[in-house]
Amino acid sequence: MSETIKTDVVIIGAGPVGLFAVFELGLLDIKTHLIDILDKVGGQCAELYPEKPIYDIPGIPLITGHGLCDALMEQIKPFNPTFHLGEMVTTVEKIGDPLFRVGTDRGKVFEAKVVVIGAGGGSFQPKRPPIPGVEAYESKSVHYAVRKMESFRDKRLLIVGGGDSALDWTLNLQPIANRVTLVHRRDDFRGAPDSVNKMRALVAAGGMDLMIGQVSALEGGDGQLAAANIKGNDGAIARVECDVMLPFFGLTMKLGPVANWGLPLEDGLIPVETSAFETSTPGLFAIGDINTYPGKLKLILSGFHEGALMAQKAYHYVYPDKRLVFQYTTSSTSLQKKLGVA
Ligand SMILES: Cc1cc2nc3c(=O)[nH]c(=O)nc-3n(C[C@H](O)[C@H](O)[C@H](O)COP(=O)(O)OP(=O)(O)OC[C@H]3O[C@@H](n4cnc5c(N)ncnc54)[C@H](O)[C@@H]3O)c2cc1C
Repeated sequence: MSETIKTDVVIIGAGPVGLFAVFELGLLDIKTHLIDILDKVGGQCAELYPEKPIYDIPGIPLITGHGLCDALMEQIKPFNPTFHLGEMVTTVEKIGDPLFRVGTDRGKVFEAKVVVIGAGGGSFQPKRPPIPGVEAYESKSVHYAVRKMESFRDKRLLIVGGGDSALDWTLNLQPIANRVTLVHRRDDFRGAPDSVNKMRALVAAGGMDLMIGQVSALEGGDGQLAAANIKGNDGAIARVECDVMLPFFGLTMKLGPVANWGLPLEDGLIPVETSAFETSTPGLFAIGDINTYPGKLKLILSGFHEGALMAQKAYHYVYPDKRLVFQYTTSSTSLQKKLGVA
C-alpha cells in the first residue's frame, strides 16, 4: 500500500460539479485532490455528450459538453488541483472530528478533513457482453480497460466492438501483440473514419484480422482463455485461438461503492441539508447529481451553486480558528491575487 496522501479536501468525482468545487474551495485557500474512475475529467459531459450543445449554463448561450470541461479546467488552473484519474474510490471512513480516510481500488490512501462526494449518476462501469460464462475470465484474461499496454505484448488479442475504444486499442496494440483479431457484429463502424481506414489498411496488409459476427462462446480454464467461437451473420461458427479478450461495449452508470459508505440513501441518492449540502456526517458533503433534497434539479447550474455553499462550510473545518470574510472576485485584490490576475 502506498504512503497516505494528506490534503484539505478530497473530491470524489471530476464531473463538472467536482471541477467547479475546486474553484470555490481554491478561492478560500483550500487544497484539493480529485479522484475519478474515468481516464478523463468532465463526467457525463465528457463521456455521454461531448459534442452536444448545452444551452443553460448561466451567461454562456451555447457550449458543448467538451467545451464546458475545457473552460472549467482553464478556470481552476490557478488552484493546481491534483487529479487521480482511472481510479475508483472504494472506501470512505470517518477517523476523526472531522477527518476522513479515503481508499481507492488502486491502493491509494488519502486523509482529508473534508470529503466532497461529487459522484453524479454513480460510477461509469463497462457493459458486460452477452457471452455465456464470460464472468469466469474477467480480470485474468477478459479486460474492459487497458491499464498497461505492456501486459498485452506478444499475446493473441481478440478485440470486440465497433466504436472508438475498440478501434483505438486495435491500432495501439497491433504493433506489440502477437496477433490482433477485431470482431464486430456488422461491417460498419461507429468510430472515427480515420481509425476505420487505418484498421482496414492493416487488414489489407495482413497485419491483423477482421471478423464480422458475434462472440458466442469461450473456451479455457481457470480464468485463462484459450479460444472463442465467432458466430457469423450467416450462422457459421469460426473458432479463433486467443489469450486475451478486450470487449468494448460502452459504459453504463451504476451507483457503485457509494452505497457502502454508511450513508442513508434515498432511491440511490444522498440526502443533504440545503445550507451547505452536507450529509448527516459532519465534514462529508454531497453535491451535484448524487444528492437529493426537496426541489432538487439535476442541472449543472444547481451543482455549481451547491459547490459554492459547500466551500463556505468546508472552510470552517479546514481552518477552525479563522474567520471567513465574504468577498467578490470583481473587487477583492486578495482573490484576484489567488487567481493570478492582480
Ligand atoms: C444526454 C445528457 C444531456 C444533458 N444535458 C444537460 C443540459 O443541457 N444542462 C444541464 O444542466 N445538465 C444536463 N445534463 C445533466 C448533467 O450532465 C449533470 O447534471 C451533470 O453532469 C452532473 O455533474 P456531476 O459532476 O454531479 O456528475 P457527473 O457528471 O455524473 O460526474 C460524476 C463523476 O463521478 C465519478 N465517480 C462516481 N463514483 C465514483 C467513485 N466511487 N470513485 C471515483 N469516481 C467516481 C464518475 O466517473 C463521474 O465522472 C445532461 C445529461 C445527459 C446524460
